[in-house]
Parts: sequence; structure tokens; C-alpha cells
Amino acid sequence: NDRTETLEFQAEARQLLQLMVHSIYSNKDVFLRELISNASDALDKLRLTAMLDKELAVDTDDLHIAIEVDRDARTLTVRDNGIGMTRDEVVSVIGTIAKSGTAELLRQLREAKDAGTSQELIGQFGVGFYAAFMVADQVELITRRAGEDGGTRWESDGAGTYTVTPIEDAPQGTAVTLHLKPADAEDNLHDYTAEWTIREIVKRYSDFIAHPIRMAVERPGSDGAEATTETVTINSMKALWARPRGEVEPAEYHEFYKHVSHDWSDPLETIHMRGEGTFEYEALLFIPSHAPLDLFSPQGRRGVQLYVKRVFIMDDCDALMPNYLRFVKGVVDAHDLSLNISREILQQDRQIRAVRRRLVKKVLATVKELKTAQPERYRTFWTEFGAAVKEGLIDDSDNQDVLLEILSVVSTHDEAELTDLAGYVGRMKDGQSDIYYATGENRATIENSPHMEAFRAKGYEVLLLTDPVDEVWVERVGSYDGRALRSVAKGQVDLDTEEERKEAESERERQRAEYADLLGWMGGVLADSVKEVRLSSRLTTSPACVVGDAQDITPTLEKMYRAMGH
Ligand code: ADP
Ligand code: MG
Repeated sequence: NDRTETLEFQAEARQLLQLMVHSIYSNKDVFLRELISNASDALDKLRLTAMLDKELAVDTDDLHIAIEVDRDARTLTVRDNGIGMTRDEVVSVIGTIAKSGTAELLRQLREAKDAGTSQELIGQFGVGFYAAFMVADQVELITRRAGEDGGTRWESDGAGTYTVTPIEDAPQGTAVTLHLKPADAEDNLHDYTAEWTIREIVKRYSDFIAHPIRMAVERPGSDGAEATTETVTINSMKALWARPRGEVEPAEYHEFYKHVSHDWSDPLETIHMRGEGTFEYEALLFIPSHAPLDLFSPQGRRGVQLYVKRVFIMDDCDALMPNYLRFVKGVVDAHDLSLNISREILQQDRQIRAVRRRLVKKVLATVKELKTAQPERYRTFWTEFGAAVKEGLIDDSDNQDVLLEILSVVSTHDEAELTDLAGYVGRMKDGQSDIYYATGENRATIENSPHMEAFRAKGYEVLLLTDPVDEVWVERVGSYDGRALRSVAKGQVDLDTEEERKEAESERERQRAEYADLLGWMGGVLADSVKEVRLSSRLTTSPACVVGDAQDITPTLEKMYRAMGH
């Protein structure tokens, strides 16, 4: 075909494909899960688009996925009659990887020494469509976007380039055909053209897919009659969230999680709940076991999906989960909403707000429970998501108390272990009335700071806060358990008892008189840099330090603002 164009994969896509071709991932069966997952997404999208756009003349009565095999040609096709792709969509979504964090992932992969680590990293990323190249040496994709006339054929062997060709007669939707690697290839464990292999993989990974997955199977004729083929549905299509909790196996939850999250590893926690009464809903939520690479990038989020009576309505439904819990994945199926509901209306809807309040409470309660019952798992949670959760102390005053309970911080009390605020308060010294914290880039910088000297001398514990968000929440929260949160770097810190203070005051008077000339001279010399030069009571070994006024912003925050261009 002279209209065939040969194009190059984007550099990052090429590197990821290399990894697939060279079989970095040991469980190759999951390629089928990825293709079925994409097909299912495409069917959801078509149903939704047809619902919103009545002009679009498409038939949505028989949305399904078909798996076709040709044992002689050794091909396996996954076909859907979903939304399909335009030529430009094929080039932009299959030829490139838009996910933020790709470059960083690839750098880490290059550095990963052993195969185990690499698999873990790839697992965190989710390779999606490219997984096809684990089992195929040639992949062909034929697609036609719903509502468009012409279709597109895409072909590649997974090396540097692919071709795209316009075609006249493609059915609406997408068909991905894999030319399977030779059956005797040493690392090919399964024959992916065998009916039972396919059935088993679908059962294990994709049983809950809400659309029928069909396959033609051979039935031997009885008593010498001709063999017949028959098309059967090989998944149960049961919406997992609608089933009673006690009847769902953990493995089923895990596979469902992988489908909605596009993650390849198991979740840390599963939350399955049901709301009854005036507004019925079911929610199946997951806390992942690791943070996505784009947790802190503004574009990067894929949170909770909204369904209405089993029909997919939208991805990333921010009305259901606050930003600080953006890492929570899953599905909420609300029974009494209009299928046409828009994001804006959802944000205003009183019942949706009530659901959101309940979901948030449940997620936080789950974390709190984890903290007391399974400290190890909680630690994983906090290490991965703590920095995001702390944003809740700024945004979500309703849940401040429980957020302060699940909070963990590093402190001078222990080199290695995190502490919580209750632990700090429990260790406070007699006569200590405030909770002290220090902020900075990392533990070492803070500990070397002269501000710490007086506290060390006194034996007072200091919280060491190193996330940029810490500056903001400590200010916002102000106190815990009736005790003020006080920065070691701000204002006058009173560390002494009444008597010591009087003594020190007269001593300081004496010193002030003695050093008046020096201080006046230094104040003059440094006039452009500081507000005031004064004698310090806080230092024990350093000769001088710079302090902020109680109202001033702290150095870390100042740095943060400066970096942001203020
Ligand atoms: P993800 O599913 O995480 O987005 P994939 O690599 O699995 O990543 O797929 C990349 C993109 O390719 C999808 O987001 C979708 O836009 C497109 N795509 C893949 N398969 C299909 C399909 N069967 N029908 C329509 N679009 C598809
Ligand atoms: Mg996918």
C-alpha cells in the first residue's frame, strides 16, 4: 500500500519496548489482561459517548470482546466493537508514552542490577499495550473510530519503528492481532492458542470485566457426528463491588484493582462498603502499595471511577475523593444518579458530598486501624503517601483530629523509627509545655543547625520536618492536644523555669550593657541584611545564628516561595 507511512517510536517508548521484547517480566500471561482491559475501557467509552452524543450513529446493543485464534498461523486476536481510534490517536497513544515519570522510571531500570528489582519497577509502571510484545514478535492493530469512515492499520515488530496505513473497510472498534513467538522459544511457557490456556487466563485476570468476552470453541460431535464450533462467553461479568464481601476472594479483589488502577502490583488495602437508605451506593476502594511516579505532578491522577447502576460514567471522579487522597483507586456505583451527570453538577450534589464524606472517613479509619494493628504495613503506607496525606491537614479541617492521629514524623527521639504526636507528648519533659519542631531540607541539615543546641542541652525532643508541606500544616494546625506547635527557629524560645529566667535576665542586662557598643556596630554593618542584632540565650557552642521573627516565614518556606518565583 503506497499510503503506508513508517514512523519511529518516541525514544522512551522504544526503551520500554526493548524491555518487553527481552522479557524482563516473568509472568507473560498478563499480556492478555492488558489487551482485554483496553478493550473493556474502549467499550465503556463508546457507551458513554453514545449516551452523551445522540447524533453519533453507533450501535451499542452488543458491546463485547472477542478472542480469536488461528492455531496454524499462530495468531491470537483480541477484538472489540468499542470507541476505536483515529489515525492520529493511534500515533499519539501507541507510538509515545505520555505518562509522567517515564524518564525517571527508565533511569531507575537502567540502574537496577537484578531482575527482581526491574520487575518490581516495571510493575509499578504498568506497561499496558506494550505487554503484547512479551509474547509476540509482530503485532497488528486495526481500528476505526466510532463515527469516522476510514480506519487505520498499525503494525510493528517492537523494534524502532512502526507503520500506519489508512484502510477503507475496517469494522468499528479495534482488533489487536499478535503473531505469537515460536512455540519452542525457550521462555514460552504457555500455548496461547489453546482454548484452556485462554479460558484459565481470562478466569484468573478478567472474570469481572463487565462486557462479555467471547470465544469460539470446538465441541467434538458425539457418536461419530461432525465436530461443531460454538461461541461461548468465558467470563462471569459479575460486578465485583455488587457481590457480598464474604464471597469475594482476595485474589479477585487484586485483579480488579489492577484493572482499575493500571498498576501491576497488589494493593495494600481493600475497602468494600455499601451505603443504604435514601442514596444507595456501593464502593470498592483500594490503597495501592506504592505511590505512582506522578503523585506530585498536577496532570497525573487517576483516582476513583464513577458508575451508575453498573454503567461506567467517568474516570478520576474528583467529586468523590479529596485531592490529598488522590492515590486511592477504585469504583463507586451510585444507584440514583442521572447517567448524564456532569462533573460540575456532581461537585454541587449534596448526596455525592455525603458519600464523599463517608468514603474519606472510611479510608482514614482504615489507615488508623492499620497503624495500630499492622505497623509494618502502616509504615509502607506512610512512606509512600504520607507527604500527600499531610496536605489534608491544610485542606480538610473536618478530619483534622484523625489526620493528626495517623500522622507520623521523624524526631530527635529515635534515629530510625518514626514517631507520632501522641508519642511525643508522652515523652515531654516536666515543665515543657510546647511541642517543638524544626524544618529543613533533611535530617542532617536540621540537626547541625545552631537552633537545635538549646533543645539538645535541655534534653527536649524536636520533630524534624523535611517535606515542604510540613511548613504549611504546622502553621495551620497550630497545636495538638492543647499544646502549641512551636518552631525552634522562630522568636524567643523560653526553655527555662521562672527562677532560671530571672537570673538569666539580670545576667543578660549586664551583658547587654557590656556589649552595647559591639551590637550597635554590628547592627550598622549588617543593616541591609538583618533587622536587629541581639545577644542570644539559645546558643551553647555556636558563636552566632540567624533567627526569624515569630511572624516571619521560615527559611524552608522562604526557599520554597523563591523557587516558585515569588
Ligand atoms: P492505559 O490503558 O494505561 O492508558 P495502554 O498502554 O494499555 O495504557 O493503552 C494506551 C492507550 O491506547 C489507551 O489509553 C487507549 O487510548 C489506547 N487503546 C489501547 N487499546 C485500545 C482499544 N482496544 N480501543 C481503543 N483505544 C485503545
Ligand atoms: Mg491499558
